[in-house]
Amino acid sequence: VQPRSDEDVLGNAIVRMKENLQHYALEKEKMLNMKDEFLSIASHELQTPITSMKAFLQMVERFADEKEALKPVKPLVEKATKQANKLVTITRNLLDVSRIESGRIQIDKSEFLLSEVVEDLKEQNGLLSAGHTLMIEGDTNVKLCADRLKIEQVLSNLISNAVKYSPLSDKIMISVQHNKNEVKIAVADLGIGIAKENLPFVYDRYFRIEKTSQNYPGLGLGLYISSQIIKLHHGDTGVESELGKGSTFWFTLPLEGKKSNC
Ligand code: ADP
Repeated sequence: VQPRSDEDVLGNAIVRMKENLQHYALEKEKMLNMKDEFLSIASHELQTPITSMKAFLQMVERFADEKEALKPVKPLVEKATKQANKLVTITRNLLDVSRIESGRIQIDKSEFLLSEVVEDLKEQNGLLSAGHTLMIEGDTNVKLCADRLKIEQVLSNLISNAVKYSPLSDKIMISVQHNKNEVKIAVADLGIGIAKENLPFVYDRYFRIEKTSQNYPGLGLGLYISSQIIKLHHGDTGVESELGKGSTFWFTLPLEGKKSNC
């Protein structure tokens, strides 16, 4: 028997390592799919009770408006409604993930101004509740041909993250730059920031930075869903950040010009 050369041994070891890595990647994907499936079934089941809970809360709020004796109840109802809205967001995110994974998510394009979305977000109840101020830089008067609700969802995700992960600073900045081909929209905060080694993973499904995120609620899905929505619009997503200094999350959208089907 020919003695095996060092190169053969090394070559075999590399092949085995590659096979192992492929195996682990497949196993990880299988586990993530099981997690998606379970969470999407749970979310479906939660939708009906949450909807009726919100309807009952609305009724109580109306009673409180009409009857003087019930006035003190109103702030409590508002708080309960805010929590119910959080549940709606969580279930919506979980259902979105299962739609994305099964290719069932749809983009419904129309023409609108970015400024309209920004105005809606400024008025969105609870988005900036922690006393943060939203500053706008650049021209938001840009016409987009996109799925308005989904672009609003992406911006809302980025703004609520900026609020959540900057508990000690109050400034959030939306900046808009565009040329004739695309628009770049960025949301910047002066919050906890992200270490360099975590930056490549922040848009991954269920990814959360253990060390910094454990004090903040979340499922690690907002950025993943946002990046998939932008991908469906043929745009890009990215992030620049420095630990302890703050983060800037951005996305681009093509400006489709005359050939767009809006
Ligand atoms: P979630 O916030 O629900 O955990 P996301 O998908 O929105 O999920 O974000 C993934 C992770 O990226 C977060 O858990 C957090 O670790 C990090 N992250 C996102 N936005 C910011 C931000 N503005 N500043 C610092 N870290 C952030």
